[in-house]
Amino acid sequence: MDLSILIICYLVGSVTFIIGLKMLSHPESARKGNLLAAGGMAISVLGTIFLYQEDGEKLGNYPWIFSALIIGSVLGTLAAKKVKMTAMPEMVSLFNGMGGACASLISIVEFDHLSHLLSRGGSVHSGMLLIIFAGLIIGTVSFSGSMVAWAKLNGRIKDFSFKGQHIVNLFIFAVIIGLSAYLIIFPEHISDTLFYTILVLSVVYGLFFVLPIGGADMPVVISLLNSFTGVAAAFGGFLYDNPVMLTGGILVGSAGTILTILMCKAMNRPLSNVLIGSFGGSSAAVSGKDQGSYKQISISDSAVVMSYAKKVMIVPGYGLAVAQAQHVCHELEKLLSEKGVEVNYAIHPVAGRMPGHMNVLLAEADVDYARLLEMEQANDEFPQTDVVLILGANDVVNPAAKTDPASPIYGMPVLNVELSKMVIINKRSMNPGYAGIENELFFQPKSSMLFGDAKSVLQQLVAEIKTL
Ligand code: NDP
Repeated sequence: MDLSILIICYLVGSVTFIIGLKMLSHPESARKGNLLAAGGMAISVLGTIFLYQEDGEKLGNYPWIFSALIIGSVLGTLAAKKVKMTAMPEMVSLFNGMGGACASLISIVEFDHLSHLLSRGGSVHSGMLLIIFAGLIIGTVSFSGSMVAWAKLNGRIKDFSFKGQHIVNLFIFAVIIGLSAYLIIFPEHISDTLFYTILVLSVVYGLFFVLPIGGADMPVVISLLNSFTGVAAAFGGFLYDNPVMLTGGILVGSAGTILTILMCKAMNRPLSNVLIGSFGGSSAAVSGKDQGSYKQISISDSAVVMSYAKKVMIVPGYGLAVAQAQHVCHELEKLLSEKGVEVNYAIHPVAGRMPGHMNVLLAEADVDYARLLEMEQANDEFPQTDVVLILGANDVVNPAAKTDPASPIYGMPVLNVELSKMVIINKRSMNPGYAGIENELFFQPKSSMLFGDAKSVLQQLVAEIKTL
């Protein structure tokens, strides 16, 4: 009876994961989708703890299990509540690393069981070994790689590479695969030493794999590592014949892979270039080309041109997130709309530091989703737009992506803001964005710089427009 209920718990878990994931694809339903999938996960976990039986015996160990659950839940909740929107990629990376470590620990525990069995003269199925090694390698690479990604994103470590690193990486990878294949084919030669050698080499491979990758590409790598963790968890599902672990793992694996592909497409760069391109790292190039001079605009002039415009397009970027200016930005939009101005937002798929960053940020401030235009839609709108207000965005509006084949962002689809009648750019200085390159847009005759922190500038704009 207990086992039948457990199967139903797993079914509920699997179905909620699928529906939850689908709901995540729209900002309006995303929160509910997340809760739904978390509820399904809770049912599956509690079902396993209380209903699972082996040889008629339940799991037991309740004090251990619940202590770990409580510590993990408290830490996870506090971290998620405290995290700033700009630090989201690093938190995702840290949590993903924990998932990889779990998958790896499962393989270590199961290997321990197997070696006891072998030492008592038992035999091992090669398929079982394949699953254990796959979970170990993928989970460990995901763990050590995610830890490097986390440390790079919060500035604890810098990009690191040495001559011939890719060859060394390939060699380590070949040794890992060779050793694992040997042990799977000849299980009688299995030893703790060889098993732990594979574990250590996987840790090293994960470190070397992520260390040279450029800072701006970390979100792509995190997404790739995320898919690794999913695959490793799916192997755990095979190992324990557990359907919900299998479904969850496959969903994470495939979602991570799709996201990786979409990000590469949005930047128009193949994955291989992301993995060995060192883009946006400390070594990013700054163009030495003399761009001429730029002009500035005052708060009051900006307020006037926007108030008397028919159509205004706001382009949010990373700087808006840093300044936490989403609420006052929404206030500006409402104020202009009350004056009869049509205001929309142009959302570039990789504006900010991760895909969907701007959507989540603006949703936090209750901006109407209907006003968020995707890049293609926004690009159609720019020729009819009177004023574009760029708030802390830089690379995603850089025309060099279309005109300068030598630029590191050449080929990345960008917002064609220069097609509008006037462009106001808010940022704090003439410093470059993440790619480390100058932006010729700032020097064009239609463009005017409005220097200052996005939040303070928007507050002044709101105050000024109220007086008009
Ligand atoms: P950028 O990093 O290009 O530019 C942000 C700008 O915001 C900076 O130039 C900065 O200028 C300004 N800024 C910073 N703080 C503030 C503030 N408090 N107030 C006002 N302005 C501020 O951001 P974008 O969103 O335009 O582009 C995102 C970049 O990240 C792209 O290069 C993209 O490729 C990359 N990316 C990569 C991803 C990947 O998966 N590899 C995913 C997502 C993004 P200043 O210092 O002068 O104020």
